[in-house]
Amino acid sequence: MYETFFRDQLTGLKQEGRYRVFADLERKVGQFPAATRHHEGATSDVTVWCSNDYLGMGQNPKVLAAMHEALDKCGAGAGGTRNISGTNHYHVLLEQELADLHHKEAALVFTSGYVSNLAALSTLAGKLPNCVVLSDASNHASMIEGIRHSGAERIIFAHNDVADLERKLAALDPARPKLIAFESVYSMDGDIAPIKDICDIADRYGAMTYLDEVHGVGLYGPRGGGVAEREGLMDRITVIEGTLAKAFGAMGGYVAGSAAMCDFIRSFASAFIFSTSLAPAIAAGALASIRHLKQSQLERARQQNRVAKLRRELTAMGIPCLRNESHIIPVMVGDPVKCKMISDWLLDNYGIYIQPINYPTVPRGTERLRITPSPLHSDADIARLVTALSELWSHCALSRSAVAA
Ligand SMILES: *Cc1c(COP(=O)(O)O)cnc(C)c1O
Repeated sequence: MYETFFRDQLTGLKQEGRYRVFADLERKVGQFPAATRHHEGATSDVTVWCSNDYLGMGQNPKVLAAMHEALDKCGAGAGGTRNISGTNHYHVLLEQELADLHHKEAALVFTSGYVSNLAALSTLAGKLPNCVVLSDASNHASMIEGIRHSGAERIIFAHNDVADLERKLAALDPARPKLIAFESVYSMDGDIAPIKDICDIADRYGAMTYLDEVHGVGLYGPRGGGVAEREGLMDRITVIEGTLAKAFGAMGGYVAGSAAMCDFIRSFASAFIFSTSLAPAIAAGALASIRHLKQSQLERARQQNRVAKLRRELTAMGIPCLRNESHIIPVMVGDPVKCKMISDWLLDNYGIYIQPINYPTVPRGTERLRITPSPLHSDADIARLVTALSELWSHCALSRSAVAA
């Protein structure tokens, strides 16, 4: 009976064209963005165009050397929760580095960005008496879970809509604690929040600001502090949340803010207290990566160059990309079955890996290929991708236009 239920649910997903299939890949040090694909007992070479290791830092020699050193010095695991035997010196150094990156008094590291959002938002909104959370309509699942788990009242404002946010704040009791939760770069559309305007409104209504910079850290700002660093706004954000797993190429998540706020989350967040801390080697790798990207502009500049080039070439071929100001290029297909089919064809016939993005990750009718060029994609890689997409666009009789609606 149970088995029948599981199978029926999966059949439903398949019929809707949104059953998830994972590509079985082996990443190869020194050859990013190339990888080996395992499929039906055979292997083939593929070029990855959808990695969130945005800058290839997961293979940076400095990062690998730091991880090898920590592994040889400290062994595999952390040995416990931070409270019981799991605080390693690398955690302490990493938190100092993150606090410095964001010009905050303190930072607190978690095992993932997801957990950091879940833990920080549920603790802040849950413990502040009568707190109300104003949440952007496009916020990531981990923020939504954190807010839901807090039990606090949640008011959703229209995506990046400052006027709607202000209307909703104005209707609230001025004495009530308020928290505005939003992101800097939105992962699926690649659009960027009006951070300054949101901070201005937050000040006017006495609200705290909680900014998810997961797709900004390492990539924007002169030291990779994120979009808020680039725009000189870090001091106006109450909580900056980030990941160590995307541009920094390792694993883990964090929040940065005041010493009292970080200590408060450290002391009350269940997902922090009762879970084994990050492995020392991972903390060491993340630390090396942050330090490198604080100094080096090379990776960021080259990535922006690759993004601009691919965008130009796709546009010239009439492949519709969503316009935005970030490093994310959403190529719009608008049909879940065609989206999956194009992705399969790219992988099977062209050795190009781009995961299809379908509902519920994006709204129905906006199915897309989410392309993330890295500093290491060559001109030849770009030419091959554009040719392949153009051929498939013709095969699938998809419409061509300069810019997607
Ligand atoms: C990926 C992501 C997270 C979660 O970070 P992980 O370190 O992968 O757990 C949080 N917020 C946003 C917007 C994300 O895209």
